[in-house]
Amino acid sequence: MSMNSQGRSTTPSEATPHSDVHTVSGSRGLQQREDLIFETGSTAKTGVDLPAPKGGMDRLGGVTRKQSVGLPGLSEPEAVRHYVRLSQKNYAIDLGLFPLGSCTMKHNPRLNEKVARMPGFADIHPMQPQATVQGALELIDQLATWLKTLTGMPAVAMSPKAGAHGEFCGMMAIRGALMARGEIETRTRVLVPASAHGTNPATAVQCGFKVDEIKADARGRVDMEDLKAKLEDSSDIAGIMLTNPNTCGLFETDIREIADLIHEAGGYFYCDGANFNAIVGRVRPGDLGVDAMHINLHKTFSTPHGGGGPGAGPTVLSEALADYAPVPFVVEEDGVFHLVEQRTDEGSDAFGRLCAFHGQMGMFTRALTYMLSHGADGLKQAAEDAVLNANYIQSRLKSVMTPAFDGYCMHEALFSDAFTAEGIETLDIAKAMIDEGYHPMTMYFPLVVHGAMLIEPTETESKAELDRFCDSMLSIAEKAKAGDESLKGAPYLAPMRRLDETQAARKPELRWSEPDKVAAE
Ligand SMILES: *Cc1c(COP(=O)(O)O)cnc(C)c1O
Repeated sequence: MSMNSQGRSTTPSEATPHSDVHTVSGSRGLQQREDLIFETGSTAKTGVDLPAPKGGMDRLGGVTRKQSVGLPGLSEPEAVRHYVRLSQKNYAIDLGLFPLGSCTMKHNPRLNEKVARMPGFADIHPMQPQATVQGALELIDQLATWLKTLTGMPAVAMSPKAGAHGEFCGMMAIRGALMARGEIETRTRVLVPASAHGTNPATAVQCGFKVDEIKADARGRVDMEDLKAKLEDSSDIAGIMLTNPNTCGLFETDIREIADLIHEAGGYFYCDGANFNAIVGRVRPGDLGVDAMHINLHKTFSTPHGGGGPGAGPTVLSEALADYAPVPFVVEEDGVFHLVEQRTDEGSDAFGRLCAFHGQMGMFTRALTYMLSHGADGLKQAAEDAVLNANYIQSRLKSVMTPAFDGYCMHEALFSDAFTAEGIETLDIAKAMIDEGYHPMTMYFPLVVHGAMLIEPTETESKAELDRFCDSMLSIAEKAKAGDESLKGAPYLAPMRRLDETQAARKPELRWSEPDKVAAE
């Protein structure tokens, strides 16, 4: 048994408290039981003590509420505890390693938060006179310069508010260019590889194009033979939407040839840049022949995301598409910054606005802070460390698990379920990870790999943490390989055991009804 410096055992006891341990409180150790807020509070109770409103005139024309709203009343400590207990049931990047792939949830330096909260950035309004927000406009301009430099592209649209929104921006620019060429009626087909993120085909369709799927080859890259076959009659080709590195975590090695083929066919090359974090500082997409690419600031430049929080998807554009960028954008003249809100020049073919204002100021501030605090060399190092960490995981786990493809990966390691015994699925492995204290990896995506398990550690984790994670994964994988039936019951230690996920997705119960009303029905 190993001991820590205090002489306490660091080996978990064999008698781990399993689900059959009964507690009177319903709590499990320091994991507190928590009921719904409606069950905790009572409509008869109130947390505040206000005098009853003075009767006065009815300003609502008789539509004032006659009954109580039925909201639960709680005292302040009850309300605080309710939400703190719920928050403790959440897994978070500030709690442990987040293995989700295609996501890049990583550490967001606290410095970014500090700068984003500075009143000069946080307490301004988009309708303020521009003379009073010169610093904010300069920040947007500087960030734009960094993005153009890192990608080797001449223009950038800053306003898209998510990756998918950036795709929409890029594809609208392509539409604009095709319209100007008088070819929007004929060029209607967009090629999308089978491994693409679901937003790619959705964007193409939203912009009025038809999606034509290209196969993946045995190496997990675009099948060049299939691509060439699809380009044989190229008169209707609008372009391609390709992710690089792709969603299998692999660099598209034929990307230059793909760009040339698409351009020869008269189409444009949209690159999904969600995985830019794997190549920042090493590869400039502009050098690969890309015409448009969104950058998820919330995946590559550290701004927090998830839980529906704000994202930002600035979209860089090539010379061919620059004139079709949306408004507004920032320009500098003699040291004064202003927003161009309307174009009257040649670029008036541009499609207008994507959103009411200029984009996500808070995300811009965090991203530029991250860039300035890392410097160009630090950004490159973050990309290299992310790739190194993913390869470390792939190399350790492949002693039991089956890598989906041969060779090195980029920022994420992808496994198939080929190693599991009959009857054990990817889902069982994911559930067992919860017992080990980890959020499950991305599973069943990309669809081109059977029972896919996609793991992305990013640069955030130390070797010790990666090893701890790999040890847990290998012990679960061994069980999966041996067909250990206990995996089917996992998680054993979570506040909620295995839920009926199909029911939860198809027939969600989102309303609470008072028990006596339910009984009366
Ligand atoms: C995350 C992601 C997107 C979509 O980005 P959002 O900011 O979530 O809209 C698109 N493509 C890929 C490959 C992604 O990983």
